[in-house]
Amino acid sequence: MSKQIHPPLRAGRRGLILVVIVLALVVAGSGAAFALASSHKGKTTLIKSTPAPASVADTGPTTAQALVATTPQTSPTTQVLTLAVTAKNPRQMIIDASASAIVAAATLSPASPVQATAAALQKVVCIDPGHQAHPDLTLEPIGPGSKEMKPKVEAGTRGVVTGVPESQLVLTIALKLRAVLEAHGVKVVMTRTTQNVDISNSQRAQIANAAHANLFVRIHANGNSDESIHGSEVLYPSSIKGWTDTIAAPSKRAASLAEQDLVAATGARNLGLVARGDITGFNWSKVPVILPEVGFMTNPNEDRLMETSAYQTKIVGTLAQAILTFIGVR
Ligand SMILES: [Zn+2]
Repeated sequence: MSKQIHPPLRAGRRGLILVVIVLALVVAGSGAAFALASSHKGKTTLIKSTPAPASVADTGPTTAQALVATTPQTSPTTQVLTLAVTAKNPRQMIIDASASAIVAAATLSPASPVQATAAALQKVVCIDPGHQAHPDLTLEPIGPGSKEMKPKVEAGTRGVVTGVPESQLVLTIALKLRAVLEAHGVKVVMTRTTQNVDISNSQRAQIANAAHANLFVRIHANGNSDESIHGSEVLYPSSIKGWTDTIAAPSKRAASLAEQDLVAATGARNLGLVARGDITGFNWSKVPVILPEVGFMTNPNEDRLMETSAYQTKIVGTLAQAILTFIGVR
C-alpha cells in the first residue's frame, strides 16, 4: 500500500501547504454522528463531533462519508471521497475515517487530482446476488465438460413472514455491500443489479473469471421446511481436480473469515463452513469463491431480522470486513 502513496506533505516542496478538512458524516443504524477534524502537516485534530461518540456505541459496522477539501496554494483541489469504516467503537471509527481520508488526500497531486491510488484500487471483487426474479430451470453442466446437469438458476426461497423473495433480499444486501467496498476503493463487478435478468450460475462464475476477481462472493439466504432452523453458514468449493483444486484452499480461508465475522456481528447461530462439490457457480469459477448463506428466510425471527436495515448493515459490514481482510486491503 505504501508504494502507492506519494510522500505526504513533502516538507521540501516550498509553498505547498496542504490543509485537509475532514467532514465525516457517520450514518449509523440507530442514529447519526458527525465529526469535523482538521489535518495540517500530518497532525490531525478532532474539532467537533456530535452526538457524543459514546451515544452511538455498539451500532456495529457503519458507513461514513467524508468530504475532503485539499487546498495546496498552487492548485486548489476539492475531492469528495466516500469512506466506509467498520469498528465496534465509534470513537475509533471516527479516527479511522479521518485517517483514511488523510491518506487518500495525500495521494492527490495537482497533476492527477482523482488518482487516489492505494492497494485497494487494484483489487476486484465480484458480487453475485443469488437467483433472479424468475428461475430458469433449463439445464447446464455443473462444471466444465461435465455430463452432470443442474438447472441454470433455481427459484430460491422466500420470507415465511415477510413474503420477500430471496432474490430481492440478497440483491438489496449485495448493492449495499458494493457501496461499502467501492468506498474503500475496491473495484466491484456485479453479476446483476436488477431482478429482471436471466444469467445462469455458470455464466455468473464466468463473469467473475473475466473480471479476474480477487474474490467472488455469492450472496444467498437459506430455506428449510423446518421453520425452527436458523443461523448462518458459508459455503466454499471442495477441491475437484481440474475444476476447483487451485481455488479450494484460498476459498476456504475467505469463507472462514466471513463466517467468523458474520456470527460475531449478527449473533446468529454458527452453522459453520461447508465444502461443496455440486455447485455450478463454484465449479466454473477460476477465482476464489464463497457463498454466504446469511440466514434462514423460513425462520420467522430471522426472516424479520434480515428485512431490517440495521441487521442488513451488520451483515454487510461484516462481509466487507472479511472481504477486505482476504484481499489484503485492511
Ligand atoms: Zn439461494
